[in-house]
Amino acid sequence: MNQDELLYPKKGMFAMKKYRCLVCSYVYDPAAGDPDNSIDPGTAFEDLPDIWVCPECGADKDEFEAV
Ligand SMILES: [Zn+2]
Repeated sequence: MNQDELLYPKKGMFAMKKYRCLVCSYVYDPAAGDPDNSIDPGTAFEDLPDIWVCPECGADKDEFEAV
């Protein structure tokens, strides 16, 4: 096992966190993704494209906090 595997375990070992929009309280659930915006189920919030915005109010990712 190399050091990268120790530092960065494979995806799926940790439950992915949900994130809540601070503006409108929309919750991004990684298990559900955001199919309306071409985000597949199982996509972690951290892996969302930078252009992704809240589907409810259009706030960008900086407006979200982990829940
Ligand atoms: Zn929002």
